[in-house]
Amino acid sequence: MPEVKSTKEGLLRLILGTIVTTAEGMAVTLKNAFRPPVTEQYPEQRWQPLERFRGVPALLTDPKTGKLKCTACGVCARACPLGIIEVKSHFGEDKKRVLDEYNLDYSRCMVCNLCVEACAFDSLAMSKKYEHATDDIAKLRFNKERLGEFGFEYLPADSPAAQALKKGAKPSELAAAVAAAAPPPPPPPPAPPAPPAPPGGEQ
Ligand code: SF4
Ligand code: SF4
Repeated sequence: MPEVKSTKEGLLRLILGTIVTTAEGMAVTLKNAFRPPVTEQYPEQRWQPLERFRGVPALLTDPKTGKLKCTACGVCARACPLGIIEVKSHFGEDKKRVLDEYNLDYSRCMVCNLCVEACAFDSLAMSKKYEHATDDIAKLRFNKERLGEFGFEYLPADSPAAQALKKGAKPSELAAAVAAAAPPPPPPPPAPPAPPAPPGGEQ
């Protein structure tokens, strides 16, 4: 009965195939069971961004004065293809712009780096900050104080601004803390001695 024989062969092949594939699957399971874990135990362990990683754009601080380097020229705002940077300023007594507000809507940012490239004053950089998860999208609109804090990672460790932060200065009072910690200016040099009076006194 050829039909019965082919059914038996088919069943045998099915059983053998099941055994082989099960053995292969178990081999993969066993192999991975003894591998060290590759997952990170967040938040105890944090991912270290790579050298060229782009996080949120950050405003940079002058390491010597603790003040933001931004000159409020507004070029970065015009360079942003999404129009998500807002710069507000006024003219000071010395006719230079004074930065009043700098806002960036990070919820729409595509981290393209164009704003950084447009800045001619080295006042802006892509930070390594990436942990911004929130259930309130309005919290992703960062003001100049927050953007300045993101930029602190670029301060040289031995700079006056970094030292002031290390000693507990508040970011909003960093410039004042740096100024207070600065050594007093040297005393003015002594006045030169008065020339001797001409002989015979006054004519
Ligand atoms: S990184 Fe790009 S999208 Fe984001 S603020 Fe800068 S220019 Fe705009
Ligand atoms: S970050 Fe740079 S380009 Fe933007 S307003 Fe400030 S100085 Fe101008």
